[in-house]
Amino acid sequence: MKTRAQVLTAFKKPLEERAFDLAPLKDGEVLVKVLAAGVCGSDLHMASGEDPRTPLPIILGHEGVGEIAEIKGTKADADGRPLRPGQKVLWNRGVVCGRCFFCTHGEEHLCPQRFVYGIHRSTAVAPHVNGCYAEYLPLDARTDILALDDFPAEHLATLVTASCSGATAAHAFDHFPPREGETVVVQGVGPLGCFMVALARDCGAGKIVAVDVAEARLALARRFGATHLVNAGKGSPADRAALVKDLTDGRGADAVYEAVGKAAVVREGLGLVRPGGRYITAGFGQPGGTMGWDPFADLVRPDLKYVGVWVSHTRHMRRALDLIRRRLDDFAAMVTHVLPLAEANRALDLMRRGEAMKVVLQPHPQTPARAKERKSP
Ligand SMILES: [Zn+2]
Ligand SMILES: [Zn+2]
Repeated sequence: MKTRAQVLTAFKKPLEERAFDLAPLKDGEVLVKVLAAGVCGSDLHMASGEDPRTPLPIILGHEGVGEIAEIKGTKADADGRPLRPGQKVLWNRGVVCGRCFFCTHGEEHLCPQRFVYGIHRSTAVAPHVNGCYAEYLPLDARTDILALDDFPAEHLATLVTASCSGATAAHAFDHFPPREGETVVVQGVGPLGCFMVALARDCGAGKIVAVDVAEARLALARRFGATHLVNAGKGSPADRAALVKDLTDGRGADAVYEAVGKAAVVREGLGLVRPGGRYITAGFGQPGGTMGWDPFADLVRPDLKYVGVWVSHTRHMRRALDLIRRRLDDFAAMVTHVLPLAEANRALDLMRRGEAMKVVLQPHPQTPARAKERKSP
């Protein structure tokens, strides 16, 4: 059996379509027919060579939803129920060893052996098809898989966001969930930031301030629960700081969540937090510059809680999925474009030009999913 895939062979060059032989599965491995592959902002950084982890040639794509085509032996889902062919599934993009210090101390996202589909393994590494920009993807036996039995078929493309941005946002809210009535700022409301807005709403936050340079993203953030929208392209950092102070009797926000991945944004965001408040940065999938700071003035004297968030666990993906389940139509609006796999380069271009909120590739366009294309996110 063969599968076609879109392969990054050189940085800053278009992906190339290649065919791969699918090797026979090993015990516990699951072959999924990829029904939807999310195009993530990280994919753009990888394609341009900004992510130092990228091995070439590589099949990109770490956000996937699929249908089980074949299972070798037996494999249970993350709830311990046996999986069977034909089931629709979502899986944790990261695979860990399960036995190291981190895995056995509840910090499996830091497992030194962790690998992510579409990020860490080139096509030189068996089973050679290691990313979601493919018709079929063999899943390692250690992969945590969630069955999607009760999701409507037309919403499967929507669920790709749970495996990356949704799970990372849930991880950020694990550290510091806002308390009821608190004022929250979310810097950057792409998919990650919109999940943060939705989670803040879920936690009962009072005022939720969304900051972004794109009006369409701000409009979507309002749909998820943002109460105040700030176009960062129009005012200065001082204007934004004044607005947040205005909204909080001069104190500053109780919690600020960062979802951009640029040092300058962090530098600004630290100044938006009230004394004793929290700053949670989760937007960095790769290096995003450096900044100057004064440990006394920026951290100690304001008694700031400053936390970095790296990727996620299976339980975070579960929480994101639960959130999507309750707000299916809102999250469906996050997916602005659904394109066939062969148009992967166009998908990357749409993201690069900022014309899409979330693009989903469909390797098997005949399967039911919402084909759509809108002018703007
Ligand atoms: Zn991602
Ligand atoms: Zn481990």
